[in-house]
Amino acid sequence: RVAYVNGVYQRHAEATIHVEDRGFQFADGVYEVWSVFGGRMADFEGHMTRLHRSLNELRIDIPMSAESLTRVLKETIRRNRVRDGIVYLQVTRGTARRDHPFPAPGTPPSVVVTSKSIPFARSQAQAAKGVAVVTHPDIRWGRCDIKTVGLLPNVLAKQAARDKGAYEAWMVDEMGLVTEGSSTNAWIVDKAGKLRTRDTQANILKGITRTAIMAMIEAEGIELDERPFSVEEAKEAKEAFFTAAGAFVMPAISIDGVKIGDGKPGPIATKLRARYLEEAKREAI
Ligand code: PMP
Repeated sequence: RVAYVNGVYQRHAEATIHVEDRGFQFADGVYEVWSVFGGRMADFEGHMTRLHRSLNELRIDIPMSAESLTRVLKETIRRNRVRDGIVYLQVTRGTARRDHPFPAPGTPPSVVVTSKSIPFARSQAQAAKGVAVVTHPDIRWGRCDIKTVGLLPNVLAKQAARDKGAYEAWMVDEMGLVTEGSSTNAWIVDKAGKLRTRDTQANILKGITRTAIMAMIEAEGIELDERPFSVEEAKEAKEAFFTAAGAFVMPAISIDGVKIGDGKPGPIATKLRARYLEEAKREAI
């Protein structure tokens, strides 16, 4: 396996970044993850556009042209012989002697790309059965719309889920409303039969998979209510599911041990997953 590190493909086991990289010291960096199908990236433009937005919001220099970056992503996938899996890109504000303010202008950002295989069959098996979700307080900052590598609250939430044998943690604000998953966007079909997901004005990440699903929902003629839902509403829902690159559309069959619907993946989640996979594979580059 190899990793791309600042212009060089290094052996993965030995790939390193400097101890004074600002990503390491301050979580001063952003990232993106693309799903890979048959060696090709899904939702390519969406993730690339969001990367540039994240960099802009943090005033980190664009490290290289979109064309060069695309070439590096493809080459990393190719060199790692990834058919199905993910490719990960991280850009930090670069290496400089530790000091909180931005380093001197011209300090080059650090760029890392890795790629790994994940058997597609594993995700399909999980989706066929459905997975467990637990809730966890959302203790994050006020700019969760930026995809930064500052993920400690997400790590703690995900581990709390794993400790309870669950796949994902849904984070909950002080009002008792679900914000999003630790690495996914959260959705329900509420007891009135309405599809609900939190609006992206409300301090969550605007998921690329979420956006892709929204186009399909419209095409299917399903009505969407882009409005936060409470943990109580989620527990009484007919269906629950979550979306992300890598998870695609994943049905949740329990929340904090409370069975959702009949305890099986619901029809809307199942249909959206199939349709998402079909389109994502077809449009992957
Ligand atoms: N919310 C959070 C907090 C995430 O980390 C992710 C995954 N990066 C998502 C939502 C889903 O986003 P996407 O569909 O773009 O993968």
